[in-house]
Amino acid sequence: MTSPTPPPAAPRLVVGIDLGTTNSLVAVRAGKTPHVLRNQQGEALIPSVVCLHPDGRTIVGEAAKALRLQFPDRTIFSIKRLIGRSASEAAGDAAGLPYPVVAGERDLPRVRIDDRDYSPEAISAMVLGQVKAVAEQATGQLVHDAVVTVPAWFDDAQRQATKDAASLAGLSCLRILNEPTAAALAYGIDGSKDGTVLVYDLGGGTFDVSILRIEGGVFRVLATAGDTHLGGDDFDALLVQRILALLPRRAAAAAKEDPYVLQAVRGAAEGLKVRLSDAGSATLQLDLGDRGQVDLTVTRAEFEGAISPLVQRTLDCVQRVIKDAGLRVADIDDTVLVGGSTRVPMVRKRLAQLLGKEPRTDVDPDLAVALGAAVQADVLAGNDRSLLLLDVIPLSLGIETLGGAVQKLILRNSTIPTSVTEEFSTGVDEQTAVDLTIYQGERELAQDCRRLGHFKLRGIPPLPAGLPRIAVTFLVDADGVLRVTAREQRTGVEAGIQVVPSFGLTRDEVRRMMLDSIENAQSDYVAREQIDLRNKAEAMVRGTEKALAMSELPPDQTYAVQKALKALARLLAANADAAALKHGCDELTKVTATIADDVISSAVTKALREETTR
Ligand code: ADP
Ligand code: MG
Repeated sequence: MTSPTPPPAAPRLVVGIDLGTTNSLVAVRAGKTPHVLRNQQGEALIPSVVCLHPDGRTIVGEAAKALRLQFPDRTIFSIKRLIGRSASEAAGDAAGLPYPVVAGERDLPRVRIDDRDYSPEAISAMVLGQVKAVAEQATGQLVHDAVVTVPAWFDDAQRQATKDAASLAGLSCLRILNEPTAAALAYGIDGSKDGTVLVYDLGGGTFDVSILRIEGGVFRVLATAGDTHLGGDDFDALLVQRILALLPRRAAAAAKEDPYVLQAVRGAAEGLKVRLSDAGSATLQLDLGDRGQVDLTVTRAEFEGAISPLVQRTLDCVQRVIKDAGLRVADIDDTVLVGGSTRVPMVRKRLAQLLGKEPRTDVDPDLAVALGAAVQADVLAGNDRSLLLLDVIPLSLGIETLGGAVQKLILRNSTIPTSVTEEFSTGVDEQTAVDLTIYQGERELAQDCRRLGHFKLRGIPPLPAGLPRIAVTFLVDADGVLRVTAREQRTGVEAGIQVVPSFGLTRDEVRRMMLDSIENAQSDYVAREQIDLRNKAEAMVRGTEKALAMSELPPDQTYAVQKALKALARLLAANADAAALKHGCDELTKVTATIADDVISSAVTKALREETTR
């Protein structure tokens, strides 16, 4: 007798999406190698352009790009420059765009078309919707889950906004992945070997360079640099100038005003540039009707002469990023190229000269980011268990210190596994036990963060406050489990606790906590400053009292110090505000600083240096 065998479960489909400023792409991995998905015309690149046509249609991609000059004020491109930023922050970028961007509620940027406001998330969602459609058409399956890439320097708001855009498009964003990490994955740098990789990404309108350190399967971005307004578009602009210069002066002036002519000239310039990547010279014949004829041959040498200063600017960034990472050129194991503009031979040549080594070019630079995202997507889908998951901590972790402030040990977005140790001390003389309460969140005060757990370290030798040295270690393992241990260094007594930081916290809660921390940054800062100053004043009072008892000062100086000391103690007792406390501390510092005997100032400095737990 046979029992029916269930069909083998189809591998779960998770796509990788490169949501670019100029172009977007989608890729999947089936088996070992990832490949990009193409539309019915065989095109992989989907221009990140949305045209809200007067007839009510929403047109996305190549067709929208073609309408850019016909409907300049309703064809939206470069929306990535605005996403996740406030209107004031993005004002500089918005000013250069031909479509209207206004400041909406809470200073959020909105694209205004026909009296309707669109958020950058909504516009990005339209691009992602097209990406999703291409993926579904190419795979013949419904696509729901995705990994979406962002520049390494995107902050939390920009990452969250990108996730929101995915949700709006009906996609669940399983992971936001850094573009340079994705590129490295595409080049087969999978974390199995430790090393340092430089990722050079020159796209249409932006340039990014990052240094990745790969250690034990974890990709860490050591440093990033770049220029948000430098790319292939600037190469095109130089050729546009050349072309316009060939027209009779009046025709050139008129052409600059005419969107159709300008579109044609820009397109021709880009075509010329692309051909110069393969040939030593290229010819352009352009008929602009009554504006005139253009017949132009450009040699590669001429083109290279023109773009040389722009290329040099990218190389300056490369040198800076290496320096920022604390490295030398010789420390770079691999250089990988990303972005369409790295096809320009001069870019490759000059980079190789600078680094003393050929960059890797075995992956199509246009596709690298999407291909790497597909690798990560496949891992997340559970189809490949050979790769380590790269994960980050969503919210900072820390402990409560004296006065209800939170001292953060592990900052949000740290990659896991990770471990941080910091030293603390006691706040009261003869204290033999300390309470350690662990919090999660971005706010400054414990009462505004989420309490994760608590434990006590006992058996501390009875010593004056500030003397015991208590090392507190936060360790988050690859599964996101947090272990906290505290150890008194002199005696070796130790205690600890294990918590799962993400337990029970939904994405919405994470988001709310993050928004909270932004909204309350100002009041938090004031409260935190108050606590810090109280702690500082208390330590100063303690340190000065001790030093006074030990030193033999002339009576007039003793009197001056005691006077300032009492004044500060009174402020503390009266729970004075930050400004008054600061004044009291300054006064005490003034009198102690002028005293020849440096016993006092050194005792105070020492007391201040020691962080205290309660
Ligand atoms: P982004 O990351 O900004 O979305 P891409 O990586 O898609 O941009 O790069 C687009 C840029 O690459 C455009 O300026 C395009 O003209 C340029 N480009 C594409 N192919 C070539 C080529 N063969 N030679 C030179 N430039 C190219
Ligand atoms: Mg790109």
